This record gives sequence, C-alpha cells and structure tokens, in this order.
Amino acid sequence: MFCKAPLRYTFIDLGMSPLCESYVPAEKLNHMEPFYPLHVYVCERCFLVQLEEYVSPAEIFTEYAYFSSYAESWVDHMRRYADAIADRLRLGPNSFVVEVASNDGYLLQHFVKRGIPVLGIEPAANVAKVAVEKGVPTLVKFFGERTARELVANGRQPDLICGANVLAQVPDVNDFVKGLAILLKPGGVVTIEFPHLMRLMAETQFDTIYHEHFSYFSFHAADQIFAAQGLRLYDVEELTTHGGSLRVYARHAADESKPLTLRARELRQREIDAGLTRLETYASFGERVKETKRKLLEFLIAAKRSGKTIAGYGAPGKGNTLLNYCGIRTDFLDFTVDRNKYKQGKFLPGTHVPIHDPDRIREAKPDYVLILPWNFKDEIVKQMSYIREWGGKFVIPIPEARVIE
Ligand SMILES: [Zn+2]
Repeated sequence: MFCKAPLRYTFIDLGMSPLCESYVPAEKLNHMEPFYPLHVYVCERCFLVQLEEYVSPAEIFTEYAYFSSYAESWVDHMRRYADAIADRLRLGPNSFVVEVASNDGYLLQHFVKRGIPVLGIEPAANVAKVAVEKGVPTLVKFFGERTARELVANGRQPDLICGANVLAQVPDVNDFVKGLAILLKPGGVVTIEFPHLMRLMAETQFDTIYHEHFSYFSFHAADQIFAAQGLRLYDVEELTTHGGSLRVYARHAADESKPLTLRARELRQREIDAGLTRLETYASFGERVKETKRKLLEFLIAAKRSGKTIAGYGAPGKGNTLLNYCGIRTDFLDFTVDRNKYKQGKFLPGTHVPIHDPDRIREAKPDYVLILPWNFKDEIVKQMSYIREWGGKFVIPIPEARVIE
C-alpha cells in the first residue's frame, strides 16, 4: 500500500496457493498445509500492483531457503554491478556501503575484496550466518525507518545503499523507502533492483507473483513512492535479470548534482506508451494468464498421451505459483531437481512433487525437462546439455509452453 486508495480492481486472481518457500519434509506429507489467496490488485490512483498482506513477513523470512549464491549467473551479475558502481561512485576504504536484504553476502563480498567497508542487513538468521562466515558483517534485522534511525544514531551513514529483489518483498513500502531516505548520507546514492512490471505484463510472467512479493513496480509507480519520501529517481538501467528488471538510482531531492538522465525520461515515456498509466491495460492481463495455463496444460496432456516422461528442473518460488495455479502435480511431473541441498529430499508445497539432486535426471532420462526458473534457462540448458544424449528436450512454461530444440 502506498497511496491508501481503496483497492477495487483485480490485476490477477491466481486462487489459493501455499507459501511458495514452505517445502514439505517427508514426515509432514500427511499434515494440513495453509493456503492463502493469491489475489493481486491494481491501484486506480497510483497504478501500484499489489498483493494484500495475507501472511506476516516474520512467518516468511525468518528461516528462508533461498541462498542467492546457488545461482551462478546471478552472482556474476552482482559482481559486475559491484565493480561498476564502485568505479562510478569512486568508492574506497573511506566509503561505506550498506545492502538491505543482503542474503548470504553474495554481493557485499565483492566490495569487501576491494577494501570497501560494508554492512549487510538481513532478516533471515540462517542466511545471515553464512554471510558472516564469508567475512561480510551482517545485522539480523528487517529494514525500515526504525533500523535506519538506529544506524544513523551510531553515526553510520552510507555513501551507497543497494538492494536487489527486496522492494517487492517489503510489506510496508513507505516505511522501507523512508528508511532509505533517513539512512542515506547527503550526496549519497541508492540503487534498487526490482522486476519490471512492464516485462511481467508483456511476457505474462504471472509465476513471479507469490506471497513473498507484495508489490510489482513500474518505473512510474516507484518514482512516486520514492518522491513521497524525499528521494528522486534520477537514472535507471534495464536489466535482463529475473525476466527483465530495473535498477533505479535515487538521490536526496535536495542533491542537485545528479540531473535526470535521458534514459530515465525515455523509460517513463515508454511506460506511458505501453498503457501503464491506464486502468484498461491492467484489466486485460488476467485473460492472457488463463491462456498461458491452457497452452501449458495442452502441451503436458499431449506429451503424457504419447507416453513421454517429464521431469522438472528447479524448485523456485515461481515454479510453485505456476504448478499450483495450473494444477500440475506428479500426474505430469515425475519429480523435480534442485542444486540447493536444503530443498533436496523435500516436496514442493501444495503439489508435493518430490525434489531430488540433479543427478536424478541422468538416471531417469526424461523425454522433457520443464525449466521452472526460466530466468536462468541459458545457464541450465548449458549445465544440463547432456539430456540430448538420450533425445531429451527442454521446455519453457511461459508465456506459452515452448520446446527448446
Ligand atoms: Zn495507490
């Protein structure tokens, strides 16, 4: 919630779904699982696309199974960012960098290597512990106005605050952005990365919607939210990560040393041209999602009718939204695999598809491998190219089921 206007317009209703990171251990397979509505609205005033807070963040994020370092291309992406921003802002031993939602230290470790002092802020204690072991000092806390004031009281104001894939996961986006404004040193820079709503809509990436993601941002919506707390978005980069993300650059409103860039102005115009400031554009999304589901089921039904075997690759949050919404269980997918040992031996929430070590693909030789984390498809196709030895093929589920030859 940003502007507090009543939410009356549905963006997409994906029905009831379990928490997508609540992997089920074998001994709990016969227990009840909580399901919550996955009903997303669009605000008629500010066009922020948002999920009501059905589940408290403390329930979701205090023991989290997602370790950023398991995805190599993601680690690589953030290493390049660290190098580029350290050069651009001329960061050195006298600078200070804070990352909000620093996960296992996958990003800050690169600043540490350059001798730049850092502090991570991460609410999941099990993940923060891994960061500290890597030499990344980490505060186990949720970030917001209160944490920001505590840090400022200790005289710690950063030159750079960064955050990737955290803004969507914040239940009170105003409190979070206010925290950024309070913490940031005068003249400092905030960079925040989030999946771009324009891409989500253009490519029907409805599976990136889950209970952990409360908000889905256009540049337009983010701009208003930051402006309301005294920050200005002055630059933006469009990234290919997570199906298409934005990295926005913010400064204090009073800091006039950083003018609005051409690419920020151009993106704002493209969003207007794409209809992101008109309600009708949002209303048409639901029908496209249903068509994506029908096409995926058509593909799976045809494959099973012709006697093919299908395995999944990955056990990401987005896979759980997809499988639960489409009703895909072990009737279609024999199993899935994941490199994350924390998930192996467990079962996907809701659908109870078993999760194995990736070696299982080699043993089972499935005809099709459905790639659930499609945002990492290039990396996965490269790693798993051996499935071609037995004629196996990769399948991407959205925007329509597509076989990669
Ligand atoms: Zn609003």
